[in-house]
Amino acid sequence: MIEKKSAIVIGTGAGGAIMAYELQGEYDVTVLEAGSDFKGFSGSLQKLASLRAAGIYRDIAQIHSVVPSMIIDKSEEVSIVRGVGLGGTTTLATGNAVRFDDDLKAIGINLDAEFEKLNSMIPITTEHKKKWNSSMNKMFDTFADMGLNPEVMPKALKAEDCINCSHCAIGCPTNAKWDVRELIDKAVGKGAELVTDCKVTHLDIADNKVKAVHAKRKNKSVTFTADLIVLCAGGLGTPVILNNSGIECKDSLFVDPLICVAGISPSFNQDKQMLMPFYSRHEGFILSPYMDYFSFFFDKKWRVPSSDLACIMIKLADEEKGYLEGEKVHKSLSQKDKESFEKAIELCHKILINMGIPEKDHLVGLTTAGHPAGMLPLTEDEKDSLHSPLLPDNLYVADATILPKTMGFPPMLTIMALALKISDKLIGITK
Ligand SMILES: Cc1cc2nc3c(=O)[nH]c(=O)nc-3n(C[C@H](O)[C@H](O)[C@H](O)COP(=O)(O)OP(=O)(O)OC[C@H]3O[C@@H](n4cnc5c(N)ncnc54)[C@H](O)[C@@H]3O)c2cc1C
Repeated sequence: MIEKKSAIVIGTGAGGAIMAYELQGEYDVTVLEAGSDFKGFSGSLQKLASLRAAGIYRDIAQIHSVVPSMIIDKSEEVSIVRGVGLGGTTTLATGNAVRFDDDLKAIGINLDAEFEKLNSMIPITTEHKKKWNSSMNKMFDTFADMGLNPEVMPKALKAEDCINCSHCAIGCPTNAKWDVRELIDKAVGKGAELVTDCKVTHLDIADNKVKAVHAKRKNKSVTFTADLIVLCAGGLGTPVILNNSGIECKDSLFVDPLICVAGISPSFNQDKQMLMPFYSRHEGFILSPYMDYFSFFFDKKWRVPSSDLACIMIKLADEEKGYLEGEKVHKSLSQKDKESFEKAIELCHKILINMGIPEKDHLVGLTTAGHPAGMLPLTEDEKDSLHSPLLPDNLYVADATILPKTMGFPPMLTIMALALKISDKLIGITK
């Protein structure tokens, strides 16, 4: 009997979950996850908001005490949000499930089949427009009237279960929003072993092979071995492990920084509305309605009732410049990024004015980001191998780290498509 090969998948986010699900069966898979089960916030945001005047919300990183798997990495100019826990950052995602692979196509990677497969695996819908409240319809119509071509956002969502609570990013209370934990459950159902609270620190590499995976689990050092290792610890987690293992990543971090511009409009009720229900594309950024709870809690200027905010998010395709020093993230906005933000903020002011909200009632929020990526970008030379020559033979990366170029666009579905393609390749290798 031929013995089945073993694989270790590190991380359970967008890339890791699909990888574990696809590989299990062909390989004996062990999944190593730094965090634990995702616990969303189930209390009352209004009660928390009533404490703003007491000045207790000083530091955006305090969000971790409300949603334990939400981690904030602060850099020079951007606070970067990510999920460390089962499901990775997809548990915090607003469910946007859009294809954005022009830059992968440009280097010769065709993901048509993978997107088609994902469409059959994930409940992706645009059938949520009928649930929007009148304010959201008004905002959509204003975008349309201004020629900004708003498009209904495809959502990984069971639309009929969505209660429009605006809590998408802190834990969907009805599980209407789909995330990759479903795939992890299925992988475990097929026999994968899941080890949580297990933070991988580094890899032992010799003779162009990973010989051992080292991790910390409940303050103890633990070691794992397998024939194949797939790193899916995310755009900030994976580069740390690689750097610690003697494989230097590039200083090409991009994060898709975002700033929200809000207008004060009594009873606009965007806090009773799903986040990012539509978007409009522009050169270097997208705009989308988004209730910015970070600015609402942590920026003094935003101390108005959440129901009175009409809020538009700018998500920017930033320049690929940023690096890590140990686990410390260094990310500044370039001159070009700042100019793009200025242009986009100006456009948001115009939209809000067209909605009848004068500029004196506009607020500009904090600079945050949620899409760290790009520190081991795929190149044209790697279009067939999907494997950087910097990596040992039995080590692959299948997460945001390998995205080749800045996006300014929700990347989750594209990361999953790429991971799916890599998993097919790895399954092919065993046959
Ligand atoms: C608030 C918010 C909303 C978002 N909304 C959307 C959206 O609607 N649509 C969209 O497309 N994108 C969205 N994103 C971005 C998207 O979720 C991420 O880009 C995507 O999940 C990244 O996938 P990944 O596999 O690279 O990493 P992640 O999903 O972050 O997964 C990384 C995994 O690795 C684990 N890990 C990290 N370090 C270690 C370690 N040392 N050892 C073991 N495990 C480790 C983590 O716990 C996690 O499970 C959002 C992001 C945020 C912050």
